[in-house]
Amino acid sequence: MTKQQTIDQYESACNAVLDKINNLYFEGEADIDWVGDEIGGTATIADYFFNMDYMMTALRHNASEKQFFGYYDEQLEKGGAKMNFKNYIKYYEGFNKVNKSKTEDVTCPICNMKFTYLEYLDSHIFNKHGFLSVTTKSSHQH
Ligand SMILES: [Zn+2]
Repeated sequence: MTKQQTIDQYESACNAVLDKINNLYFEGEADIDWVGDEIGGTATIADYFFNMDYMMTALRHNASEKQFFGYYDEQLEKGGAKMNFKNYIKYYEGFNKVNKSKTEDVTCPICNMKFTYLEYLDSHIFNKHGFLSVTTKSSHQH
């Protein structure tokens, strides 16, 4: 394989990933592009920015629409999440199954630590695991 063929293969694979993301999370209708025409760098879909790692993690771990946009929103709000996207997808269901009742003990879905108040669990999850909140749900429009 020539160098140019290697580059062409990589770029067509990256374009395929971008198309797949557009189909899965934007009904295939968003405008897609690469920043600075660098295929495989940062992709733009509508007014979102994704790198290859983010898009591949979403595909590899079957991120739901809520997870795909939820993690993105949390990163924007916090200026960089401590938890990586893969773990966010992995633990997402657990976070959303946390008992929202304040009168009962609540358990961290990651380390199983018990807390008497939801507020304590909330700050634990933020400080220890980097997940924004279990009590507030980020709403999202696209
Ligand atoms: Zn924990």
